Amino acid sequence: MTESVLACEPALVEGLPLSIDRDEVLRFQGYKNGSGAPSAEVLELFAEARSLAEALLAPRVAYRAVPAVLARGVIRAGDQSLSVPEIGRLWGTLTHVGVGVCTIGDALEARVADLFSAREFPLAVMLDSVGSAATEHLAESANDRLCQLAIPVGLKVTNRISPGYAGWNVADQRALFTLCPGEPAGVSLNEFCFMTPTKSISFMVGIGPDVRVDHYFTQCRRCWMRDCAYRRAPAPVTYAR
Ligand code: SF4
Repeated sequence: MTESVLACEPALVEGLPLSIDRDEVLRFQGYKNGSGAPSAEVLELFAEARSLAEALLAPRVAYRAVPAVLARGVIRAGDQSLSVPEIGRLWGTLTHVGVGVCTIGDALEARVADLFSAREFPLAVMLDSVGSAATEHLAESANDRLCQLAIPVGLKVTNRISPGYAGWNVADQRALFTLCPGEPAGVSLNEFCFMTPTKSISFMVGIGPDVRVDHYFTQCRRCWMRDCAYRRAPAPVTYAR
């Protein structure tokens, strides 16, 4: 278990809050702001899926920090080079990257497969959305915990980014897994850069005393750390429920 944002060996991050946010699940179901309210039937399905999920979630997060240098849009960390578009402009000067691999385990996706086999399609799709939202929230919670660990020791932590998003080549999953193997969390990577269990997220954050975070107000807005003295923006909702 790690209690340091600069943990140099891969370790588990324990005790993270994990909630299933209704609005987030509904977003995975295709509901967007202004696109119509979900019906009572949909909300009933959500309640059933959330209740099912509670016994199926096995959250685990593996994490490690690696000294790093960012120059001309390339992050050199250990023996790996990571090309992330716009990262120099967004993160500025960093001293380390933090690499995490998180998962909710494979029980939920096995249950989704069973439900599809039983032709219980609406519940299967809703449970899958619940799993996706839970995985996202686990990664958010890990990001918040790292920020919380960093501030008292004079460091800052950026928002997380993941291979395959915002123009970052998904092939860099291999580099991330080299820096922080998913094994402690029970996550493996195949030759096509797909993770197993599928409800897994790998991510990287920038760390350093001067790394740019001031424009990342979204991080504080949705952070579960209700009483954080360093909060940069109020949270209109809290995930700690
Ligand atoms: S409220 Fe903001 S500064 Fe405090 S831990 Fe959360 S993200 Fe970090």
